Amino acid sequence: MTTIELVQGDITRESVDAIVNAANSSLLGGGGVDGAIHRRGGPAILEECRRLRASLPQALNSVRAGGTPIGKGLPTGQAVATTAGNLDARWVIHTVGPVFSATEDRSALLASCYRESLRVADELGARTVAFPAISTGVYRYPMEDAARIAVDTVRATKTDVEEVRFVLFDEQAYEAFARQLR
Ligand code: ADP
Repeated sequence: MTTIELVQGDITRESVDAIVNAANSSLLGGGGVDGAIHRRGGPAILEECRRLRASLPQALNSVRAGGTPIGKGLPTGQAVATTAGNLDARWVIHTVGPVFSATEDRSALLASCYRESLRVADELGARTVAFPAISTGVYRYPMEDAARIAVDTVRATKTDVEEVRFVLFDEQAYEAFARQLR
């Protein structure tokens, strides 16, 4: 039985087995929660991301002469794990959320982020996992829809994770998740 907890705050301050990062396909760092995780977690996380990226199939990982990555990187909806560096966790699980589209339903991809992250957590043996509200920042997913997909997917996923903690950065996000749990 997985219990779901809600916390309002900064996910980089949580102590859990695994912290999930709303990464982008490059795995090479970005803004928002990704930037915060790399800042507080330190360079060990980025180093391992670089290695992971280099080990992706060649089509996902091609680089231009000079080293600029042009391959797509980690596909949307998938998840991979690295060390958590200086964070109070054992692992960071990086997952790539979909960019919101008004003309195409990408909810299956967002659900996949939660499911795949829990699958990776099970592989690692993580029992407590903190998630941010994936895709609701720069990727513009409407908070209400994102909260419903997040909560429904976690509830529907068979996992050995004992506690899923959604860590919501602001009150609006917290309230949206709280409405889904009621
Ligand atoms: P995405 O590209 O998937 O939209 P963002 O990082 O831009 O990812 O935003 C995802 C969510 O994470 C947003 O709701 C944003 O407010 C939130 N967020 C940003 N920084 C943090 C943090 N330090 N802890 C928890 N959530 C955060």
